[in-house]
Amino acid sequence: MRIARFDDDRLGLERDGRVLDVTDQLTSSLAPGPYSLVRRLITDFAEVRPLLEELSAEVDPSAGLLLDEVRLRAPVPDPTKIVAAPVNYRDHQEEMNEDYHVSALGFFLKSPSSLLDPGGTVRLPYSDRRFDHEAEFALVVGRRASQVTPEQALDHVFGYTGLMDITMRGGEDRSTRKSFDTFTPMGPWLVTPDELGSPDDIGLELTVNGALRQKANTRDLIWSAARFLSYASTVTVLEPGDVVTTGTPAGVAPIQDGDTVELIVDRIGRFTIDVTAESAMPCPTGGAGRGPVPPPAPRAGGHPA
Ligand code: MN
Repeated sequence: MRIARFDDDRLGLERDGRVLDVTDQLTSSLAPGPYSLVRRLITDFAEVRPLLEELSAEVDPSAGLLLDEVRLRAPVPDPTKIVAAPVNYRDHQEEMNEDYHVSALGFFLKSPSSLLDPGGTVRLPYSDRRFDHEAEFALVVGRRASQVTPEQALDHVFGYTGLMDITMRGGEDRSTRKSFDTFTPMGPWLVTPDELGSPDDIGLELTVNGALRQKANTRDLIWSAARFLSYASTVTVLEPGDVVTTGTPAGVAPIQDGDTVELIVDRIGRFTIDVTAESAMPCPTGGAGRGPVPPPAPRAGGHPA
C-alpha cells in the first residue's frame, strides 16, 4: 500500500500514478484526536487496514485523481521527533574525513518543524555559509518502540519514504545545522513494508539540475535500518508517526539559489524540491570552517580563520 498525504491533510492510496481519496472513509472510521489524520491512521492501522484494502480493490483505478491534480504533502506533518543517523555509510565517512561513524556518534534530532512537502522550496537562511543536500532512506514508526531488539525493530515500522537531510556545514551542533525550517523534504508517500520488501536492498539517487550527485544502496549502511531503529529505541521511546532517517552516502555537495534537487528511491518513488536564497542574511554564528567539513586542499591557504 502506498499512502499519500495531499492538499489539506487529505489521505489517499497511490496506484499507477493516481491517488484514490480515502479521507472521508477514514475520518468516519478513526477515533477523533488532536493529531493529523495520518498519525491517527498509523495508530489504528490494524483496525482500518481491511477497509483500505477493500476500497483499493473495489475502485476502478481510473477513478483516482491524477498526481498533477493534487498537491502532495510531507507524509507525516506532525511527528514527535525526527531521529537521524550521522555518518552511516563508509564512503561518506571518508569524504567528510570523519574519525567516527554512527557506532560512536549515536543519533541526532532534527526539528519536526523542518519538514517540507514534495515540490516545496528549501530556503537557505544565510548568504555566507555552505549548504549541502543529503539523500536518505527513512522509515516511519508504526507501533510504539522502546528497548526493541534489531530482530523486533521492523515490526515497529509503519512504512518507508524518501527524505533529504538538508545541512549547513560547519561547527554548530548538528541539531542546529539541520533544523532550519524547510530543511527536511520528505515524500512522496509512505510505502508499507509488505509492498517495499526488505529495507536492506533499496537503491537511492539524488540529482541537482539533472546531474547525478549521489547513488547508493541501503545494503551499504553501517547500521541497518533495523539496527539503527533498535538503538534509537534504547535512548528514547519512538511514537507512532515518528521519523527515523538512516543517513546519507557519499556525494554530498552544495546547493544554491535556483537549484532543483530530485530524490529517487527504489520501490518508493521520486520528488523534487527547489532552492532559494532570496531571504538569506549573514550568519550570526561562527561555525564556518569548523566541524565535520571536507578538508581544504593541502597547503592551499590552510583552514579559514
Ligand atoms: Mn544526514
